[in-house]
Amino acid sequence: MESPDKSKRQLKRASCSSNAERRQACSPSVIVIGGGFAGIAAARALYDASFRVVLLESRDRIGGRVCTDYSFGFPIDMGASWLHGVCKENPLAPIIGRLGLPLYRTSGDNSVLYDHDLESYALFDTNGNQVPQDLVTKVGQAFENILVETNKVRQEHSEDMSILRAFDIVFERRPDLRLEGLSYKVLQWYLCRMEGWFAADADSISLRSWDQEELLPGGHGLMVRGYRPVINTLAKGLDIRLNHRVTQIARSYNGVKVTVEDGRTFVADAAVIAVPLGVLKAKGIKFEPKLPDWKEDAIADLGVGIENKIALHFDKVFWPNVEFLGVVASTSYECSYFLNLHKATGHPVLVYMPAGQLAQDTEKMSDEAAASFAFMQLKNIIPDASEPIQYLVSHWGTDTNSLGSYTYDLVGKPHDLYERLRIPVDNLFFAGEATSVNYPGSVHGAYSTGLMAAEDCRMRVLERYGEFDLLNPTMGEDVSVPLLISRI
Ligand SMILES: Cc1cc2nc3c(=O)[nH]c(=O)nc-3n(C[C@H](O)[C@H](O)[C@H](O)COP(=O)(O)OP(=O)(O)OC[C@H]3O[C@@H](n4cnc5c(N)ncnc54)[C@H](O)[C@@H]3O)c2cc1C
Repeated sequence: MESPDKSKRQLKRASCSSNAERRQACSPSVIVIGGGFAGIAAARALYDASFRVVLLESRDRIGGRVCTDYSFGFPIDMGASWLHGVCKENPLAPIIGRLGLPLYRTSGDNSVLYDHDLESYALFDTNGNQVPQDLVTKVGQAFENILVETNKVRQEHSEDMSILRAFDIVFERRPDLRLEGLSYKVLQWYLCRMEGWFAADADSISLRSWDQEELLPGGHGLMVRGYRPVINTLAKGLDIRLNHRVTQIARSYNGVKVTVEDGRTFVADAAVIAVPLGVLKAKGIKFEPKLPDWKEDAIADLGVGIENKIALHFDKVFWPNVEFLGVVASTSYECSYFLNLHKATGHPVLVYMPAGQLAQDTEKMSDEAAASFAFMQLKNIIPDASEPIQYLVSHWGTDTNSLGSYTYDLVGKPHDLYERLRIPVDNLFFAGEATSVNYPGSVHGAYSTGLMAAEDCRMRVLERYGEFDLLNPTMGEDVSVPLLISRI
């Protein structure tokens, strides 16, 4: 598909000498931009439907915000690490099941969005005193009650507001729900966990929309061996061009012309755009002609949050055998938490997970300073903690290939923006977590949108070139292999 001259023949029904040649030359072509789960899913589905597919990826690796690092000598997911919804309805379940990849469940079936498993937390104040478990549970219930009250606030107000503002209104009305002292700090910690789910601070999360995404049943399962095997399997046999940063996409009735950083061009009948919302917001890709206003508005009005991971590798385990270690403090900004990977994987690793403003602030630090900062938080709660022997630091907010971690609803903006971002424009099809109405900010959401964009693209091409003998996608999703779940 490289070079504009060759493009014309791609759109023509050239007279072909053999069936195989005919099939090859007459197949429609598509360029997929972005090699994360959405792009790879779209490329796989279109390839399996006999399209000629080229995938252009700006990084020197595939996976995007799924990034399994092996430099500790074992897998560490520095991007996504949970399968949210360990159940057969999860679109990724068939492939994870087929690969025999184990999952470690960090929650029960009845998990709410941001909650993992309250029973397996150990929370500490900044003097290293552990918060009694019954207080953690009690404040957890109080937090749920406050959320119920915020729902009433939502019903009463036609104008949207932030979750934080709604909390204030609830406390004004219901002084009995106000907490003080250590309980207040634990409440801030719950807020901090909620902020982690959205990768945004409570003063920018929309009250109207925060709970509008769908949560699949089955709880949250950590990918014990990392997500890499899944993306590698999906990518097998595809024509993937790494280090190809797309800078321009021109569309016309006849097809698309995509330009990469070094000026080379690629042409095809259609394109699937599966780059992150942050990249679209930064206008790193120029559209010719420009995208319609409704699409540009959707890009501008959806929020992109930041969550990072700082993985600390120790020579031995010196912390309690719980899933999360939490630091409680007077503001949610000062609260934080560590995921204990030892419990799930057996490796002595704690992963510090700052979100929102804290993630932005730690991202400004050098990696060494960020790792020291995370370690200091740990020292506060476990004073005799030994120094890490290795560390890894993610930079999802400033990495030009992501410019954010995942999408969330800004205050006052409609929830249908995800759908508007997804809707095709001529022969451009959009995919990625930010186009998922039901499962934004997730790997399975990204994957589903890739399949959806591929199907839309296939249907459109079929419509235009009705006689094409396009095969149906055969990805084997219907092969049912049970998921391997440890714990619970
Ligand atoms: C820290 C963190 C933790 C997370 N935890 C979870 C979790 O536990 N479970 C979960 O389900 N989800 C989680 N997520 C969200 C999940 O990772 C994403 O929703 C999902 O991976 C997004 O996939 P995508 O294909 O839409 O985008 P991406 O994976 O970002 O793929 C987009 C691709 O486009 C490429 N690209 C960018 N610009 C260009 C360009 N100009 N030209 C060509 N290519 C370009 C990028 O390099 C990238 O490979 C997490 C995310 C982060 C950052």
